[in-house]
Amino acid sequence: MNLVEALAQARGRIASAEAKRLLRHVLAITASEVAAHPERALDESQSSRYAELVQRRAAGEPVAYLVGSREFYGRDFRVTPAVLIPRPETELLIELALTKVSRGGTPRMLDLGAGSGCVAITLALELGCAVTAVDVSVEALAVARDNAARFGARVNLVESDWFAGVEGRFELIVGNPPYVAEGDAHLRDLAFEPMTALACGADGLNAIRRIVADAPRHLTPGGWLLLEHGYDQAAAVAALLAGAGFVAVEQHRDLAGIVRVSGGRMPD
Ligand code: GLN
Repeated sequence: MNLVEALAQARGRIASAEAKRLLRHVLAITASEVAAHPERALDESQSSRYAELVQRRAAGEPVAYLVGSREFYGRDFRVTPAVLIPRPETELLIELALTKVSRGGTPRMLDLGAGSGCVAITLALELGCAVTAVDVSVEALAVARDNAARFGARVNLVESDWFAGVEGRFELIVGNPPYVAEGDAHLRDLAFEPMTALACGADGLNAIRRIVADAPRHLTPGGWLLLEHGYDQAAAVAALLAGAGFVAVEQHRDLAGIVRVSGGRMPD
């Protein structure tokens, strides 16, 4: 079987871009190599490995888990089913975070819910400074540690249930906590991802409520909290922030036009 035949085999079962991605993964080749050598043959073990991945993808497993990586903010992060797959909308959290701290300085920054480490590592690399990141899952921390080591990012990973194991104050706290309402139909599409990273309480706001309530004790005067949240939670999160004493509450839309990140500042 050659590359063209392999892609034809997947047609109608999975998206063609996904079939190409799986094929590239099995053969460890680039997209341009696929295009340049369509006649290239797969050996028996490559064919069966590819057929298995197509089968698993057709059954709903996310491509990121099948190939073990996902691109985020221009870098490839290792992912396993122990961590949420990085989402493009979370790049908004990065862009906003980068506007809140001055480059060249040594701001103290905290990421709540490290997962793959994509947020903390990206901030550490973009700003050239250290970031503390917590996660309650030791499996997730292992993935984040692996990613941080591969990128040489200075990320201090701590096993902690939100702020429980965190000491000191930070100039910037960011987080992409679980925020989907338990029982939300959307969760059925996300069945391969860790439920603890996705769903949180009847209205999805349990984690955000805890974070917003505890953040003031961990922020320096003038320090910022920025949180990603669900498509219908903007008003609730703004009210939580104001209620906890945050000022200058801001809300920002993602590329789909959905208010996706809210934040506020501690008074000076
Ligand atoms: N944005 C994700 C989704 O619904 C949820 C991520 C999260 O809960 N932090 O697809």
